[in-house]
Amino acid sequence: MSFDTLGLSAELLRAVREQGYSQPTPIQAKAIPTILAGGDVMAAAQTGTGKTAGFTLPLLQRLRAEPSSQSGRRAQSGAHRPIRALVLTPTRELAAQVQDSIQTYGRHLPLRSAVIFGGVKINPQIEQLRRGVDILVATPGRLLDHASQGTVDLSRVETLILDEADRMLDMGFIHDIRKVLALLPPNHQRQNLLFSATFSDEIKQLAERLLNKPELIEA
Ligand code: AMP
Repeated sequence: MSFDTLGLSAELLRAVREQGYSQPTPIQAKAIPTILAGGDVMAAAQTGTGKTAGFTLPLLQRLRAEPSSQSGRRAQSGAHRPIRALVLTPTRELAAQVQDSIQTYGRHLPLRSAVIFGGVKINPQIEQLRRGVDILVATPGRLLDHASQGTVDLSRVETLILDEADRMLDMGFIHDIRKVLALLPPNHQRQNLLFSATFSDEIKQLAERLLNKPELIEA
């Protein structure tokens, strides 16, 4: 199995090659074509399986291939450049890792990303958001702080990714997640991806509310 057959663009294949990856991991081989097809996904994946590239690569590809509804969007900046993808993570460490992956795999693409989490000053984050980002990686609490201050607009999000959803629920983020969901367009108007190591009843309930006819993926 090679990365070349998964439907990824030349810029992404180049970034993958530069990472020295010779073949996709099992979760990547399943997740990449499925996510590229545009439907919702519920994926069972542990850390260390390559799940981050499994959602980051197709996410970047879709954002690149389908400019947002507004024409001439790439020339836009600041408040006129909407956040098109939101990745929610339970911890700042994971948020930073996901942001690193987006930067690495997206290095040949003209997409901007930012990461926001608590425990650090909010002003540099506000400044970054003001300049405009296509992809936002965030922990729920700090994201809601920004939302309540009006410094983030999630009304144009096309793709939502919940990474390590089981840990988010374990850490008591369910109410925050619900509040974030209320700030997004209706769920049938976006692609929703849920990654989790385990599938408790609570996760299944969340998935039911969040996902439309999801493809189930297990590595
Ligand atoms: P993750 O499960 O996303 O935390 O990834 C675990 C590690 O696997 C990361 O350090 C990645 O850089 C690495 N990795 C991801 N995809 C591949 C691949 N196809 N081949 C080799 N290593 C990979």
